[in-house]
Amino acid sequence: MKDIHYYIQLLIDYAVKKDLIKENDRTWAANQIIAKLKLPCFNPSAINEASPQEALPQYPDAILSEISKFAVKNKIIEDVPALKALFETEIIGALLQRPSDFVSSFEKIRKNKGAKSAIQWLYEKEKQAFYIKVKEIKKNIQWKTQTQYGTLDLTINLSKPEKTQKEIALLKTQGAKALNDFVYPKCVLCAQNEGFAGNFKYQARQNLRLIPMTLGGEKWYFQFSPFVYYNEHCIVLDETHKPMNINEKTFVRFLDFLEKFPHYFIGSNADLPIVGGSILNHDHYQGGNYVFPIQTAKTRKNFKLKKFPKLKCSVLDWSLSVIRLAGARKDILAASSLILNRWKNYSDITVNIKAYTKKQRHNTVTPIARKIDRNFIMDLVLRNNRVAKDSNEGIFHSAPQYHHIKRENIGLIEAMGMAILPARLKKEIQIVKDCLIGAKLEKIKADKDANKHYEWAKELAAKYKFNSKNADDILKKEVGMIFAESLKCCAVFKDDEKGRNAFDRFIKTLSQ
Ligand SMILES: [Zn+2]
Repeated sequence: MKDIHYYIQLLIDYAVKKDLIKENDRTWAANQIIAKLKLPCFNPSAINEASPQEALPQYPDAILSEISKFAVKNKIIEDVPALKALFETEIIGALLQRPSDFVSSFEKIRKNKGAKSAIQWLYEKEKQAFYIKVKEIKKNIQWKTQTQYGTLDLTINLSKPEKTQKEIALLKTQGAKALNDFVYPKCVLCAQNEGFAGNFKYQARQNLRLIPMTLGGEKWYFQFSPFVYYNEHCIVLDETHKPMNINEKTFVRFLDFLEKFPHYFIGSNADLPIVGGSILNHDHYQGGNYVFPIQTAKTRKNFKLKKFPKLKCSVLDWSLSVIRLAGARKDILAASSLILNRWKNYSDITVNIKAYTKKQRHNTVTPIARKIDRNFIMDLVLRNNRVAKDSNEGIFHSAPQYHHIKRENIGLIEAMGMAILPARLKKEIQIVKDCLIGAKLEKIKADKDANKHYEWAKELAAKYKFNSKNADDILKKEVGMIFAESLKCCAVFKDDEKGRNAFDRFIKTLSQ
């Protein structure tokens, strides 16, 4: 049986090895931890195991888990996953450099080795600091599916733990307090989260580090997303808590960002509900070092904009309606703004597009930018969030027959060709799979979780002969097909004759 002093020693050895603290910080670090564990002393002589140096892992997840187990056993914290996560973050947070030291190290690496090295350094540090929880993220299920519009990415997101019964009960009793606390930080994206201890509403963020930068003459911050849907998934956020707003300045900030980090892409969720992301109240973008399916999409047609003869303009052969611009900074900025402003006021009732209902605006874009050599590429995904009596979740939203796979908004990441699917699917698809292999369709109908998939399963049973060898591949492929269909629903100009003609009419207005 290894005792707590063994794990404290291990964590300190780990922190020194990863350069989170220095050799001279050992005593100080041990005293930080014993205070949190309410221990009277640190007694490394009690360690009777082999040298912990040999057991040093790449990331601290397992050591922290042992320390929080001790805290539960000694009634320092309650046996609740959310409280354990807060405590583990508090422990590692006590062993990290201050934000200003992080920023200095980041800038030093950027100056000497370039932006790519600096970002990689920060990414690795945030894994070592338990902000990016490598063990949790490995649980996510990922695959690719071939479709009409190329290869799409799919992810079942299992890294956000589901709430236990005890947590739900605690949330209820502490609900009032949590609500009052909700004003600070104002939201999960606010810079106020850096170093925050967390509560039932907010994750602990003693291990979050922000890198300040100037974009469009304003102060913004760079941080990583703790959920890592793709390589180096970052968030770029406004210093102040103000709502999402796609306008001319958005494009300026994008290109400023790409001047600093030319190997990244940057994009923004749309600024309207239904077609936007889950956080509309704090202006932010997402970026990263990853090639999304949309980037390799083919061209449907090329066209010219009268005011910008040097700009390469095209309509992408993509499930959603996308205009791609390629060219120099000045042209990209002016043309993106022109298209956005024209689109905001554009109606074509023959294809159900209405710009306004009274004063309520429906048209917006999901913009994505990249830099190639000295030029920029801007993809503008045209969006409309109008609802109607027979499509009350959105005319250009995934149709109800696909909601059993995904009902949530088709935001930036989805529009680029990566599905973030709900955790429930892991269990439900397993039930569907077992029933399809055993030819027991009625069992799906009777299951309270899986019965939403009944009609789909019936179609699949007619289409394929399932066995234990082929079932996984078929289901992954078919889930991918449903995602592709959901994306098509969001196209404001459908990929058929009527839709293509309507798209052409809009493009013509851009040169008038
Ligand atoms: Zn905020």
